[in-house]
Amino acid sequence: MSITPQIVAKQRLVAELSELEQQIKAELRSEQHQLGTELLMVLEQHLVSFWPDLTKGRLYWPLQKSMSRLEAVLAALSQLDLNMYGICADCEKNIEPERLLHDPATQRCSRCQSLFK
Ligand SMILES: [Zn+2]
Repeated sequence: MSITPQIVAKQRLVAELSELEQQIKAELRSEQHQLGTELLMVLEQHLVSFWPDLTKGRLYWPLQKSMSRLEAVLAALSQLDLNMYGICADCEKNIEPERLLHDPATQRCSRCQSLFK
């Protein structure tokens, strides 16, 4: 089997996902507040794909940032599974390969991204 850009993207995304998982757990563990411990217990009982929903509105910077990155990585992974990877979320055209190489979780082509911001 030859190595396709999708396989490379998947490897990078899976690696980043487990990194984010560890990072989020470590940040919650170091929290001084009770909320951190509570959330950590909840997250440990669920698959990582449920984490963004479970923590919606309960996180603050920088955890919020890690969680939205995790959400983007999960979205890209499920697009890979559905064979819809690399398609712009807005205009449904192919995202430029160099954009995907730069960030495998990119959701928009450069044109739509510039309108989105
Ligand atoms: Zn687009």
